[in-house]
Amino acid sequence: MSCLICQSINCSVIRGTLRNDIKRDVLQCNDCSFVFLRVLPEGTKAYYEQETYRKKHGPDLTKESTCQDVFDTYFPFQGTIIKSMGDLLKPETKVLDVGCSTGHFLAALEGKVGTRVGVELSQDEVQYCQKTHNFPVYGESIETVNIPEGPFDIVTSFQVVEHVDNPVEFLMNLGKHMKDDGTLYIELPNLDDVLLSLYDIPEYADFYYREPHLSYFSKKTLEDLVDKAGFEGVVGNVQRYNIFNHLQWQMNGSPQNNFTIGNRETFLEENNNPATAKFNQFFKRMDEEYKALVEKNFLGESLTFTGKKK
Ligand SMILES: [Zn+2]
Repeated sequence: MSCLICQSINCSVIRGTLRNDIKRDVLQCNDCSFVFLRVLPEGTKAYYEQETYRKKHGPDLTKESTCQDVFDTYFPFQGTIIKSMGDLLKPETKVLDVGCSTGHFLAALEGKVGTRVGVELSQDEVQYCQKTHNFPVYGESIETVNIPEGPFDIVTSFQVVEHVDNPVEFLMNLGKHMKDDGTLYIELPNLDDVLLSLYDIPEYADFYYREPHLSYFSKKTLEDLVDKAGFEGVVGNVQRYNIFNHLQWQMNGSPQNNFTIGNRETFLEENNNPATAKFNQFFKRMDEEYKALVEKNFLGESLTFTGKKK
């Protein structure tokens, strides 16, 4: 198998199992260090179109999630992402979100930008969006979709690049929907995630490598990818899961049950005890300091790229 980034055939198997003990090789390119799953002969498009995908990989590990569950889980946390995008979002801005899932990011942009459009392959999510939101969502592949609202000032794609068969072609296709001076903003998992790299927790590695994630990027290989796809800009990293999620992994070798617990900023339920607010302030300070330390060392769970076409 050859490397998708540098085409080298000098690749080694670094592990043989994925989450849920699925047997599949994880390979690493010995020339550029890119990490990826061995490609399945039948390809991956059908895998996402099947309706069990979201049920198996939803935000709650203990139960199957409906589209409404997914929306309700992620929507409250979009403010942090929007804040981190800063001045990119203006009242006249046209935004395209590719792999928009239940439209939670675009819905959170209501009143903040001019035009919002989504693209999504999962047909139950497309139907959910069309029923729920007041912006168009196209249920077609980015390679073939025709979007009359384009070209766009900003194209975003959150936790999608790691799922696609060919990340170079995928980013080039995103570029086709951008204005010449438009901005690309993407987020994807960081291979240097502190739980995997610095803490080196075996149970986390068993959880981290998973069937839907075909590619695993570090800062270096993401820089190689965007360069190859014709973009220039800045790779950053973010830590959004809280310190309690990391302590849980460190002490018990297991995840918390759902996304909301792992990302919440208030640790004790509000009650009549006057001490509660003081403890919550302490935990919040500790959590903020921890996340800043993680990000300063480029060990946050996600990488970001903000850039333009060369
Ligand atoms: Zn390579």
